[in-house]
Amino acid sequence: MNRPNIVILGAGYGGIMTAVNLQKKISPEEANITLVNKHDYHYQTTWLHENAAGTLHHDRTRISIKDVIDFNKIKFIQDTVESIDPEKKVVKLEDGELQYDYLVIGLGFESATFGIEGLKEHAFSIQNINSARLIRDHIEYNFAQYNIEEDGQDLITIIVGGAGFTGIEFVAEVANRVPELCQEYDVPREKVRIINVEAGPTALAGFDPELVEYAMNRLEEKGVEFKLGTMIKKVNEEGIVVEKDEEQEEIKSKNVIWAAGVTGNSIVQESGFETNRGRVPVRGDLRTPDYDDVFVVGDCAVIMNPETERPYPPTAQIAIQMADTVAHNLKQMLSGSDELEGFEPNIQGTVASLGHTDAIGVVFDDKKLFGRSASVMKKAIDNRYLMKLGGLGLLLKKGKLDMYH
Ligand SMILES: Cc1cc2nc3c(=O)[nH]c(=O)nc-3n(C[C@H](O)[C@H](O)[C@H](O)COP(=O)(O)OP(=O)(O)OC[C@H]3O[C@@H](n4cnc5c(N)ncnc54)[C@H](O)[C@@H]3O)c2cc1C
Repeated sequence: MNRPNIVILGAGYGGIMTAVNLQKKISPEEANITLVNKHDYHYQTTWLHENAAGTLHHDRTRISIKDVIDFNKIKFIQDTVESIDPEKKVVKLEDGELQYDYLVIGLGFESATFGIEGLKEHAFSIQNINSARLIRDHIEYNFAQYNIEEDGQDLITIIVGGAGFTGIEFVAEVANRVPELCQEYDVPREKVRIINVEAGPTALAGFDPELVEYAMNRLEEKGVEFKLGTMIKKVNEEGIVVEKDEEQEEIKSKNVIWAAGVTGNSIVQESGFETNRGRVPVRGDLRTPDYDDVFVVGDCAVIMNPETERPYPPTAQIAIQMADTVAHNLKQMLSGSDELEGFEPNIQGTVASLGHTDAIGVVFDDKKLFGRSASVMKKAIDNRYLMKLGGLGLLLKKGKLDMYH
């Protein structure tokens, strides 16, 4: 008998957790399972801002796929997905093609540039290990260059676009890293500018105002300048042009990092799936609106929060939970049942780090946390994920076990 082919695209939180769940639930006699990913490692996207700032080495963030996937149960293909043909049930890879009976799309996010002139060409963005490592090296190189150039202010001006979750987490890491860079490259600390530009009227929109105030105060104490209600109009080789109250200002900088918005991987839309701002408005059971054999997990999917009537923000937390539902539903479909589970996100809290020992967050519905207690909670959340992904061995190898430092 021909076994059905299950193909999982992407080994981010949604994809790899779907694979880990399936290897526990489905025997090799029931289906052939294939996982496709660009790299031979999974990375914790939620730690990339630390890699980009240089406060955590990227090898702590990435995890070999062979360490969490049993290759006797799941075939792993290291390749790049180019497109999907949902009518023919074929995935086109850079180096071949795959036929599927059931598909799980977990190809993650891309930076959204909102049409800002020059942003794509001249700004960096934190997307994966390669881009994070490049940002770290680029900033470090510019600090090293400072004492060689006659007027090097633009080399030690760091601009972060966006004061949302990612922007604030990254700015906090940069603020912690700068004193080390100053020492290493003989740069006077008072000359360095770290500027966080945000178009909206507040940083961390949607967060509790008391937590936002705490975060901004802490970051200002470390020398971060906030420019709120300020639009980035243009990015070029020299730096950025911003606009506030119809007044424009040019800020020269060789380090512009965009952290202000993401959309689903463009492959999904280009492959003809129905999308809403780049994400698939999945059905309750996480299948696409048009195809009964295609599931979408993580940032390529969008689900609505009925309370706010707005989409849930894409998070690792939701991607991991979606993987449980998708694995369950695939098992049901393989057993011939059409009783599929509906996905219900269980938001256990949101914690934003402000460096290794500081954070803000809301957990257990409405408990606010600041400082070290929030930071301990953040590390506990990260460690819990590693435990779920690869058990105690992985937790001991990659976990943030220095909870108080
Ligand atoms: C700096 C930062 C901090 C964040 N902090 C938090 C946080 O604290 N808490 C939280 O819940 N969320 C956080 N997020 C959001 C969270 O990281 C994302 O929601 C989550 O990563 C989405 O998971 P995913 O499975 O959809 O995809 P991803 O984690 O983006 O993984 C996608 C995978 O697909 C692979 N891939 C992509 N394209 C291809 C291709 N063409 N071919 C083959 N493989 C491909 C990639 O290599 C990657 O392995 C943060 C995001 C960033 C950038």
